[in-house]
Amino acid sequence: MGPSPRRKVYDVCIVGSGAGGGMAAYMLTRAGANVVMLEAGVPWDNPRDGAMLKWPYESPQRGGGTPERNFGEFDAGLGGWELEGEPYTKAAGTNFGWFRTRMLGGRTNHWGRISLRFGPDDFRRKGLDGLGDDWPIGYDDLEPYYDRVDRLVGIFGSVEHLANHPDGIFLPPPRPRCYELLVKQAAERLAVTCIPARLSILTRPLNGRPACHYCGQCNRGCGVNANFSSTNVLLPPARDTGRLTLLTGAMAREVTVDGRGRATGVSWVDKATGKDEHVQARVVVLAASACESARLLLNSKSSRFPNGLANSSGVVGRYLTDTTGTDVAGFIPRMMDHVPHNEDGVGGGHLYMPWWLDNRKLGFPRGYHIEVWGGLYVPSAGFMGGIEHYPSGGGYGKALKEDYRRYYGTTIGFSGRGEMVPNADSYCEIDPDVKDRWGIPVLRFNWKWSDYEYNQVRHMQETFRSLIDTMGGQVFSPMPTREQGYGIAAGGTIIHELGVTRMGDDPKTSVVDRNCRAHDVKNLFVADGGPFVSQADKNPTWTILALSMRTSEYIIAQRKAGAL
Ligand SMILES: Cc1cc2nc3c(=O)[nH]c(=O)nc-3n(C[C@H](O)[C@H](O)[C@H](O)COP(=O)(O)OP(=O)(O)OC[C@H]3O[C@@H](n4cnc5c(N)ncnc54)[C@H](O)[C@@H]3O)c2cc1C
Ligand code: SF4
Repeated sequence: MGPSPRRKVYDVCIVGSGAGGGMAAYMLTRAGANVVMLEAGVPWDNPRDGAMLKWPYESPQRGGGTPERNFGEFDAGLGGWELEGEPYTKAAGTNFGWFRTRMLGGRTNHWGRISLRFGPDDFRRKGLDGLGDDWPIGYDDLEPYYDRVDRLVGIFGSVEHLANHPDGIFLPPPRPRCYELLVKQAAERLAVTCIPARLSILTRPLNGRPACHYCGQCNRGCGVNANFSSTNVLLPPARDTGRLTLLTGAMAREVTVDGRGRATGVSWVDKATGKDEHVQARVVVLAASACESARLLLNSKSSRFPNGLANSSGVVGRYLTDTTGTDVAGFIPRMMDHVPHNEDGVGGGHLYMPWWLDNRKLGFPRGYHIEVWGGLYVPSAGFMGGIEHYPSGGGYGKALKEDYRRYYGTTIGFSGRGEMVPNADSYCEIDPDVKDRWGIPVLRFNWKWSDYEYNQVRHMQETFRSLIDTMGGQVFSPMPTREQGYGIAAGGTIIHELGVTRMGDDPKTSVVDRNCRAHDVKNLFVADGGPFVSQADKNPTWTILALSMRTSEYIIAQRKAGAL
């Protein structure tokens, strides 16, 4: 029998098993490192625990949300906006939501799988418009890793040669659904770029995984692993090496250091027993999600690091961003009384509208992309809520049931997802007064949007209304006013929190270097969305995966050279 996990000295300790942690475990174990992974959540396996083919009537709540599963009872996102015993707080005037999962694979079990590369301009925005900061690396540094992620994980899409929206190594995309063809026509009339979606779902078998059978239930966890989750795509090969020790229910409390200021491991709470434990490791990789990794660093105080670990710059927690978002939905009469037709497909839209305009001609500096929703999805709790907004104005009994049938599939919705410019008022810090159930100090969020974001969101609203109008439809809600923030979603609620441990060449203004290694602690790395310097108008996870792969390769090279 070898030493217990508590006694052994591991090569690497990874905190968190989501996108960033899963990729680090995959890379490092396969390169020969003995890795211990601390995951605060419960074990999870999508084919075993997912509910891919369940019918809403199999649930007493007809698939509606629960406190543990905010997106629906069958959803694979165990966690929520609030976690019992694990609060976070908000400074006065702050409207912010923090969605956390507590399960193996983190938020990659449920996520939307919109998988976008950042473009060359996204790494050098300050150089282009003077706002925010440039990354210390560029697209060329990440391109080989994006290519490898594409080949390893699988992604569908189409080669378009668009400026700042780099193509990938794509599997064929699924054809647009009926309502999406109408959207595409309207987009073409308005000169809005509209192309096939780019999602990490297999439309052809890849690396031993089968192609998608188009059940459309990706958010429940795929029963055949045809979509990407860290849980079922990255962690099994890591485990197969025999070099991954996985501890679930393990809530990291702080990173420990020695007298030389080197990380020695991580102290953690065994959630089953409430006992404090410690693992020793030669290298520590934080991938607990951007804000949770910042929290860990801020809570890792010692006489040598009184402001928290890796925080000599005071930048840990700063430059917090989220994607901007707003939605508009409407009713499309042309979709009424339709001929029954096949709307099967992947669990997500088949179309994508990347940013298509030039910000120099607009009243806001950064772009957005558009996501489309609608169609004939499986009805469950909350189905067609707001039927009173349709022409018949709601009703009762038989007439209402008939309306549900007539209007089913006639709703169209657009969601804008845009780039926020980091600002000094948006950050997280340790709340001096509040602790979680294990006595770990919690985060307090501070948040402000600027006019850059408000003006961008107003443009989204106007565009979505024009699209619905061009489709001959009726929008359900009036245009939100400036006082209503033009309908901007609260900070954090698009669930793309980034920054807070940002990268840079200058240790005075950044937390980690260009290899995501802490400037202050030679054997400490961050592999989640924390090192991002800017948001881009793209969803972040493909870049988290590529960065984590690159960071892991750097760790491997440093270990080989005897430097770690
Ligand atoms: C509904 C939804 C839709 C989304 N859609 C998209 C999309 O379409 N495209 C896209 O790019 N992104 C999307 N995202 C975002 C995406 O899920 C995240 O960017 C990604 O999962 C972040 O990876 P991560 O490794 O940083 O963190 P996570 O995936 O959140 O993993 C962090 C892990 O760390 C664990 N952990 C936290 N604290 C501790 C601790 N103290 N000790 C031990 N373990 C800890 C957590 O339990 C979790 O398992 C979506 C997210 C949600 C929720
Ligand atoms: S739509 Fe495809 S990838 Fe998604 S759950 Fe169904 S089979 Fe799996």
